Amino acid sequence: MSKEVAFITGAAQGIGESIARRLVADGFAVAIADLNTKLAQQVATSISDEGGQAIAIHLDVSDREGFEAAVHQAADELGGLNVLVNNAGIAPTTPIDSITPELFDKVYHINVASCIWGMQAAVAVFKSLGHGGKIINAASQAGVVGNANLMLYSSTKFAIRGLTQVAAKDLAKDGITANAFAPGIVKTPMMMDIAHQVAVNAGKDDEWGMSTFSKDITLGRLSEASEVAAGVSFLAGHDSDYMTGQTLIIDGGMQFQ
Ligand code: NAD
Repeated sequence: MSKEVAFITGAAQGIGESIARRLVADGFAVAIADLNTKLAQQVATSISDEGGQAIAIHLDVSDREGFEAAVHQAADELGGLNVLVNNAGIAPTTPIDSITPELFDKVYHINVASCIWGMQAAVAVFKSLGHGGKIINAASQAGVVGNANLMLYSSTKFAIRGLTQVAAKDLAKDGITANAFAPGIVKTPMMMDIAHQVAVNAGKDDEWGMSTFSKDITLGRLSEASEVAAGVSFLAGHDSDYMTGQTLIIDGGMQFQ
């Protein structure tokens, strides 16, 4: 039997890379879709060298036509499509007075519109293949409770939980589920950048920046990307077939919902 196929955006590093590697271990063939083509190719090559099946695809998730083409390419080259993970996102620090129309458009297109473009592309392919599928969107603990200084990021992550619920209702009749995952503070390049900015704003060093985050975590430590990937593995696999419209919070107990 051929492998199930997962298309993962932002999979060239951080949480996305970890998700790709975990889904390969689960038996999926994966498309590593990312703006950073060089890094995406390195991840795909490394997975292939270890015996997995992976291809790298260049993608700017805010480009609707590009997303459609990339999903079709993945389905053609990997022989199907079963799971879309809309993982790519950006998280600039945005005190209210710093927000411009240009920045608003950029963050909302990359974080929110991308999920819709991805869903449109994946749903069309699921239907053409005559089966359902799974859509999994990256939210955040910052999409469960508003986070200071992250007006744009935090509000896009609330929007992702909302569009996931709508998709769950609209797509159930086609055998498609839609769920989100909400990481806490994960040790990735994105988080290191945020910690750096917070530290610079406060006139402190990066270590201080990271420590300001761990104090609000019930489990008392930051998250590994693999711990988020474990939750996504559940959402991508058949053990979660009777689950849709939900946000799986994997944050070490930052938010209790
Ligand atoms: P990261 O910045 O380390 O990696 C993001 C990847 O997405 C990079 O490979 C980058 O090239 C790619 N990317 C960025 N813009 C893109 C675009 N327009 N098109 C295609 N690819 C693009 O980020 P991460 O920390 O791994 O975060 C992954 C997801 O998890 C994001 O949606 C983020 O908001 C969410 N998240 C992260 C954390 C955390 O603590 N790191 C917490 C909660 C949620």
